[in-house]
Amino acid sequence: MIEDPISMCPCGHLLPYSDCCQKVHLDQKQATSAEQLMRARYAAFVVGNINFLYASFHPATRRFQNKKHIEAWAKESKWMQLHILRSTVNVVEFEAHYLDSQLNLQIHHERSNFKEIQGIWYYVDGKLL
Ligand SMILES: [Zn+2]
Repeated sequence: MIEDPISMCPCGHLLPYSDCCQKVHLDQKQATSAEQLMRARYAAFVVGNINFLYASFHPATRRFQNKKHIEAWAKESKWMQLHILRSTVNVVEFEAHYLDSQLNLQIHHERSNFKEIQGIWYYVDGKLL
């Protein structure tokens, strides 16, 4: 992984990826809040870490996920920016700005639910807004 020259993590934090979301990608326990997991999931879309996206689904909803669909969405899109609009202990509302395969700007606005199980945060589901 080549570090971004301006040392900005894909999630928008002014930290090198290796000091920010990569830590979570290597060890999901490193996310200590719903928002941190949310940021790491966005960064996983940017870097194409499909296994992390899959693994960070809550066990109850993971079985409905399709890795190929996740991968197609991650790779066809050019991820531009993440905006966290609001976050509480278990809920994060965000906008993910991306260009679709036709290079049209899309804004994915979602309110996501997260749950912690034995010290590990998981993404449960989300509502498109
Ligand atoms: Zn990050």
